[in-house]
Amino acid sequence: MNIIDWTNRLVKVGSLGNFGVGNIRKIIVHHDAQFRPVGYDNLARWNAQARLHISEGQGRGGIQYHFKIDNAGEVYLLNPLGERLWHAANLDVNNSSIAICLDGYFHAPKNQKPTYEQYVGLKTLLDTLSQDPRFPADQDDVFGHREVAQTPTACCGDTFIGFVRDYRNAKGNVAIPRVPKNDGSMPPEAPAPVPTPVPVPPPTTPIVRRYVRFPGVKHLVVNKDTNLWQFDRPGWDFPSAKVLKKDEDFDAVGQAEHSNGGVYYMTAFSFGNADQTGSPAHPTGVNIVDLSAKPSPAPVPPTPTPEPPAPVPVPIPEPTPEPPVPTPPVEPTPVPTPTPIPNNPYEQWKEVKAVVEFIIGFIKRLTSRKFLLTVGTIFAINPSLEGSGLSDQLTSIISVVVKVAAVITYVIVEGLHDIQEVKTPQP
Ligand SMILES: [Zn+2]
Repeated sequence: MNIIDWTNRLVKVGSLGNFGVGNIRKIIVHHDAQFRPVGYDNLARWNAQARLHISEGQGRGGIQYHFKIDNAGEVYLLNPLGERLWHAANLDVNNSSIAICLDGYFHAPKNQKPTYEQYVGLKTLLDTLSQDPRFPADQDDVFGHREVAQTPTACCGDTFIGFVRDYRNAKGNVAIPRVPKNDGSMPPEAPAPVPTPVPVPPPTTPIVRRYVRFPGVKHLVVNKDTNLWQFDRPGWDFPSAKVLKKDEDFDAVGQAEHSNGGVYYMTAFSFGNADQTGSPAHPTGVNIVDLSAKPSPAPVPPTPTPEPPAPVPVPIPEPTPEPPVPTPPVEPTPVPTPTPIPNNPYEQWKEVKAVVEFIIGFIKRLTSRKFLLTVGTIFAINPSLEGSGLSDQLTSIISVVVKVAAVITYVIVEGLHDIQEVKTPQP
């Protein structure tokens, strides 16, 4: 900022010494309690004040402010920073502060106010000093004279002290009051304060986009072990409100369409009036994919009459196995390949007739003289098994078995012979 150095321009006869720039811990603001005309001679005004201060004695060697700000808002440095001055009515403050004085009479009876230019100059100076790295005084170390004085004083004036306090409390973030400028004109309209943008929360997708009530009740069953999900949160990570088992009944009256894309069927207990109020009685439902239509009940079959208990079978004693009997070898007979049964009804009749004729012929043969002779011969033979060591009982059993086997073999051979005769038409 532009600071006019007048440290050697005013009347000066001595000094109270220098306490050191590094010890500056406060910035004290004053008015000079002298009416400020629209135009005046700074040098004459301030020299008069310097002489007054010197005349007040106690070693004061000149004007007892470090800075002056005239009605034009120009800032003048009158004494070096760190110079001990008599200005605060407080020795500690005098030994550790900067004194800034604005020209004007800022309380009764004059009740002047700083000019717009003075406010601008003061604020710029305060901002500059607060940023000065050479000393610790900061924006919240700015006080009006009356705020630190140990003897009562009206300085820096009732019309001005408010700005000083505001500057301190807001750490310099204050607007310049809109007061007449030095030429009597009003400063331009301060730009409308930019309202602090109220943070607009990002548009949030409702967790459940909507609730839809079904025209009626859907009778469903759970098609696998699943959960009744508490779906009132974004994403898919729902807590389970209840475990549902496969094939459990589920009567749904409506559905929740979740922002995650899922659809959850809800019971009347959960749904409530969600379609009208937007919030269900309980935000719980089953994922639609875990439900199936309930199968219609199958017709009940008539109850079968119990059957009477089956008769307990009488155990048949196992026959005693007989000793093996050597049987005469039988010539293998070629088994005729069965001729396919013709579909013609007349042909079928001819087959049946042939079979009947065969059976009749076979019975005739069994009763024929030749057959009876053969059987008689077989039973007439009584081979002697003496000397074999077998008992008489066993010998007679073997004899009967051999004879029966011979007869059966004969019957089979004769039967096969007849079959051959039937199959081979006689010339
Ligand atoms: Zn003062």
